[in-house]
This record gives sequence, structure tokens and C-alpha cells, in this order.
Amino acid sequence: MISMTSVNKHFGELHVLQEVNLEVPKGQVVIVLGPSGSGKSTLCRTINRLEPIDSGTIAVDGKTLPEEGKALAALRADVGMVFQSFNLFAHKTILENVMLAPMKVRKAKKEDAKKTALQLLERVGIANQADKYPAQLSGGQQQRVAIARALAMQPKVMLFDEPTSALDPEMVNEVLDVMTSLAKEGMTMLVVTHEMGFARKAGDRVLFMADGQIVEDTNPTEFFTHPKSDRAKDFLGKIL
Ligand code: ATP
Ligand code: MG
Repeated sequence: MISMTSVNKHFGELHVLQEVNLEVPKGQVVIVLGPSGSGKSTLCRTINRLEPIDSGTIAVDGKTLPEEGKALAALRADVGMVFQSFNLFAHKTILENVMLAPMKVRKAKKEDAKKTALQLLERVGIANQADKYPAQLSGGQQQRVAIARALAMQPKVMLFDEPTSALDPEMVNEVLDVMTSLAKEGMTMLVVTHEMGFARKAGDRVLFMADGQIVEDTNPTEFFTHPKSDRAKDFLGKIL
């Protein structure tokens, strides 16, 4: 579903992604771990071309991402992304936030977009907040709206970059629960997170990144019990 071949990316002198190769099959939940600055966010952002790459290829659902233009917009719509900050449109209601992209990008009819949006808000447990504005919701609720908004585009892949890092602790689980149910429904997911409980429970696979490279690529149990590299041992020693 996601296929990266020899991907390289620099920020000036910094070689932030180094010959990254990655195949993620449909329905797999991949947890991305690694120290700060190792390239986790950059990896996510290249998958929908929020960051251009210097060399290599990236394909989603068998289609190689073009550099720009209409084809890129279409492929980008297949990749939903949820960030640490919720990035909702402040002057639009929750319902409008979820309806907007399907109408603009997918050319959905207003009635259909509304119906789908309400179903998705139901699914993330906030249908009763549909007419409120983002600022009237808690952080956990806003992040669930952000997930619903991404799902409204019917993406084939969902990328999550530290989706719970900005939340108060008591709101973390309500967001992780939504992500867990998405995972169970078979969504292909790439999740950068520091939530190790979620990583163990929902993850099919762990990628450990250091200095722009995937240093370990294994299943969660193996990673947490038998990390191989010194970098991973050091990382786990600090967080567990
Ligand atoms: P964190 O855990 O802190 O979020 P990360 O693993 O997500 O870290 P990235 O955000 O991918 O790391 O950044 C990787 C490296 O690239 C870092 O050294 C960062 O400073 C650098 N970097 C990221 N974005 C840019 C940019 N737009 N311009 C220049 N350097 C950048
Ligand atoms: Mg990051």
C-alpha cells in the first residue's frame, strides 16, 4: 500500500532521510519510533509530498507520487494525515470542517458530504458537537474531529504524527481508542507516537529510526523485548 524505494532527502547539509526502503502492505499498522530529530515526521510528510524528496520513489496503492499538479492532488487525497496540532478551521463548525474537503476535492454533493460527515462524527463519538466551533471543544475532541475530517476523504492510508502529544493526559485514551478501532477495521496506518502501550497493542510492526535511517524493522514484542542496535537499547532505556 505504501512503497518507498531508495528515498533520500536533505535539508541543506543535513541528510535527513538516507536510502529509505519501506513496503507497507494493506491493513498493516506501523509504529514509527526514534529519538528527536531522527526523521520520523519527515518520513510521514514525504509520503504525501508535503516534503519533496531528492531521489527515490514513493508509491501509494501502486501509484507513484508525481512531483506536483492535479495528479498529485488526487493521490494526496488517498493519504489522510493527522498531526500533533489539530489544524481545524477555527471559523467553521465541526460539521463544516469534516464536510469541506470531500466537497472541494472529491466534488461530493453537499447533502452526501453532510451525511458522511455526521456518520464519521458518530464514529469518533462527537456527533452531538457537530454545530460547535473548534475552540468550544476539548483537545481530545478536536483531535477526533481531525481524524474524522481525514477519514471523510476515504483515504487508503492514514498517517499520524504524534497525534496525542499535545493533549492533556486524560484525553489521550479517547484518541487512541479511535485509532485502535480504525486499526481493527483494517486501515493501513503509519503512526509516530510515544504511546508505548498503544504501540504494543495496536502495532503490527515497529520501525525504529535513527539519523535518517530505519535501523530496526520488526514486530513490537521483539522490538520491546530484544532491541538489537545500541541506539534502540539506549532509546528504550530512556522511555521505558
Ligand atoms: P521529533 O521527535 O522531535 O518530532 P523527528 O524524528 O520527527 O523529531 P524531523 O522533524 O523529521 O524529526 O526532523 C529531522 C531533522 O530534520 C531534524 O534535525 C530537523 O531539525 C530537520 N528539519 C526538519 N524539518 C526541517 C526544515 N523544514 N528545514 C530544515 N531542517 C529541518
Ligand atoms: Mg516529529
